[in-house]
Amino acid sequence: MTAFWAQPDYDDHELVQLVRDPASGLTAIIALHSTHLGPGAGGTRFWHYAQPEAAMRDALRLSRGMSYKNAMAGLPMGGGKAVILADEGSAKSPELLAAFGDAVNALGGRYVTAEDVGISEADMVAVSQRTKYVSGLPVEEAGDAGGDPGPFTAMGIYHGIKAAVQHKLGKDSVEGVHIAIQGTGSVGGGVAKLLAKDGAKLTLSDIDMDRARTLATELDAQTVEADAILGVSCDVFSPNALGAILDEDGIARLDCAIVAGGANNQLARAADGKRLHDRGILYAPDYVINAGGIISVTLEYLCAQHGQPCDINEVRKRLAQIPGRLTDIWRKSEASGEPADMVSDRMAQELIGRG
Ligand code: NAD
Repeated sequence: MTAFWAQPDYDDHELVQLVRDPASGLTAIIALHSTHLGPGAGGTRFWHYAQPEAAMRDALRLSRGMSYKNAMAGLPMGGGKAVILADEGSAKSPELLAAFGDAVNALGGRYVTAEDVGISEADMVAVSQRTKYVSGLPVEEAGDAGGDPGPFTAMGIYHGIKAAVQHKLGKDSVEGVHIAIQGTGSVGGGVAKLLAKDGAKLTLSDIDMDRARTLATELDAQTVEADAILGVSCDVFSPNALGAILDEDGIARLDCAIVAGGANNQLARAADGKRLHDRGILYAPDYVINAGGIISVTLEYLCAQHGQPCDINEVRKRLAQIPGRLTDIWRKSEASGEPADMVSDRMAQELIGRG
C-alpha cells in the first residue's frame, strides 16, 4: 500500500481529520494545510463524490490552495478546507450540520469554516449553533462586510480581468472586449453583470442553460452550450464553474489571449500552467484573482472576534489590491520566463514559511 503521505496531493498538510457520525450520517474530511500565518481558513464543500479518493484529493488540494490564497491576499490566516461526502441525491439535515459543527469545534479554532459549493449561508448559521469558528454568516447591516462571499469574489475577479486586459491587450477599459464566461452562478453571474455595465461583449455558458439564457437576456449577451465555451474565439476566457478544466485537451481548444476567472484549481496538473505559458496565454492564478470572498469573510470573522463592526470600505480597499498583485506576478513571470502559476506558488510558499 502506498503511504498516505506519498500521494501526490499530500503536501505536508499539518492535519487531515476523518469525521464520521453514524447517527446523523455525516462523513467528512477536514484538511489543514498550514497554520503558519494563522488559523486555517477555508470553506466547506457539500458534494457527491463517485469515489472517496476524489473527496480526499479535493480536501488536500483545496486546503493547500487556501494557504496560498490567504497568504497572497495578505490575510493573517492559514489554509484549511472541509468536504462533506454526500450520498447521491441526499440532502443536508440539521443533525448532519450540527455534527459537522461539533467536529469543527473540536479543533479548538485551528480551522475556521465558511460556505463553499453546496453550502449556503443558512447552513453556516446552523453550523454556528455548535461552534464559533465560522465566518460567512449573514450580515446585520447593509454597510457591513461578510455574509455571502460570492459578490465580493465576483468584484475581485472583475478588477483582475481589467488588470489582465490592460496588461496583455494594453486597454484601459473592457468596453468591446469579448469575454467568454463558463458558469453563471453566484460568481460567474456577478462577474458578467459587472463587465456588462462596462460594455464588454459577453458569451455565457452553463450546464444549466436556462440560467445562462436568462442572464444573457438581461445583459444582452450571447450564449453557447456548455461543451462549446472553451473553444469560443474571444479575448478573455473566464472559468467560473468547477476546477480542473485546463488540461492538455482543454488548453489546446482555447482561442483567447487571457484566462482569468474564479473557479478554484483551474489547472488540472502543474504542467498545465506551462502549457498556457507556452501558448502565450496570460493566466491569472486562480487563488490570487478569486480572493475577494475570503477577504470579506475573514475581515468579518476577525471583527467579530474583537466584538467590532466591520467596515465594508476596508474590504473594498483590499479587493482593489488584487490587480497590483496579479501585475507583480506577470512582471516577474516575464522577467524570469517562468509560468505565472509557478511564480505565484513560489511567492505564496515563501509567505507560509516553505520557501
Ligand atoms: P455556484 O454553484 O453558484 O455556480 C456554479 C455554476 O457553474 C452553476 O450555475 C453550475 O450550473 C455551473 N456549472 C457547473 N459545472 C459546469 C460546467 N461543466 N460548465 C458550465 N457550467 C457549469 O458556485 P459559485 O459560488 O459561483 O462558485 C463557482 C466557482 O468559483 C467554484 O469553483 C468555487 O469553488 C469558486 N469560488 C467561489 C467563491 C465564492 O465566493 N462563491 C470564492 C472563490 C472561488
